[in-house]
Amino acid sequence: MNQDKAIATPKRTREILEKYGFYFKKSLGQNFIIDVNTLENIVYNAGVDNQAGVIEIGPGIGALTEQLAKKADKVLAFEIDQRLLPILDQTLQPYDNIRVVNQDILKADVPRIMEEYFDQGQPVHVVANLPYYITTPILMNLLMAHLPIDSITVMIQKEVADRMAAEPNTKSYGSLSIAVQYYTEAKVVMDVPKTVFMPQPNVGSAVLHLAMRQQPAVQVDNETFYFEIVRASFVQRRKTIMNNLSRHFKDRLDKDAVRAALEQADIEMQRRGESLTMEEFARLANVFNALG
Ligand code: SAM
Repeated sequence: MNQDKAIATPKRTREILEKYGFYFKKSLGQNFIIDVNTLENIVYNAGVDNQAGVIEIGPGIGALTEQLAKKADKVLAFEIDQRLLPILDQTLQPYDNIRVVNQDILKADVPRIMEEYFDQGQPVHVVANLPYYITTPILMNLLMAHLPIDSITVMIQKEVADRMAAEPNTKSYGSLSIAVQYYTEAKVVMDVPKTVFMPQPNVGSAVLHLAMRQQPAVQVDNETFYFEIVRASFVQRRKTIMNNLSRHFKDRLDKDAVRAALEQADIEMQRRGESLTMEEFARLANVFNALG
């Protein structure tokens, strides 16, 4: 399609908004993309091809949805804002491979809707310019639901993208990095300037690509407990692992028991949480878990 006719231009976006008297709701994280190149880059980084099913979260007026529909077999888009439905009906009218579902992505029965809409065994990718106010709950819900998806490629706040993809011994590394990387291989694939949005957001943006792992990154005896240990180790970033864990277990274990557990897991007491790899956290969690 001719780029002038695309939804994602400043002129066409303004025309659509005016025609429907649409006003942006900040509370729904509504910052629409008005640049086709940016969208084509997102679709390219998502690895979408004509065999693929795509789940989009928050189609807005259809800027990204349109570019996805051109490359993918089928697109399933969840939009919470009812006011956008008649608009999407019109803007996406040239495409016959899109279904828009008017539901909150945090409440929708995604596995059931996926099963209904996509072909069995079809590779599925999540691709979205996410509403920034609920980035982490959306991504953690998708990851923890163990959905049959291959990857997630999302525009999010740059600072959050950096935290999700961070490696040990960096200032962005923390419990969020580990939670995301437990399920996926994470990479920041592009930084995006504010000028491609209408209205422009107050924060910087980046595109994060998450490739789903077949198996979690590390083997743990008790997942819930693993994440509890990870979170506890970062409660006071500047404090040692010994300090954070002693405080966390103060009602259950004395200091000597914590010291012995660290030794058994081969983790030096003076280290800080930010220096531990996922494997080291797994060792540590498994030792503590065995203490009962
Ligand atoms: N995809 C469009 C684009 O790139 O121009 C719009 C992206 S805008 C950043 C986020 C979209 O998510 C908005 O359309 C908003 O109404 C929608 N949204 C916000 N919260 C949502 C939720 N809980 N479930 C589904 N959609 C939501």
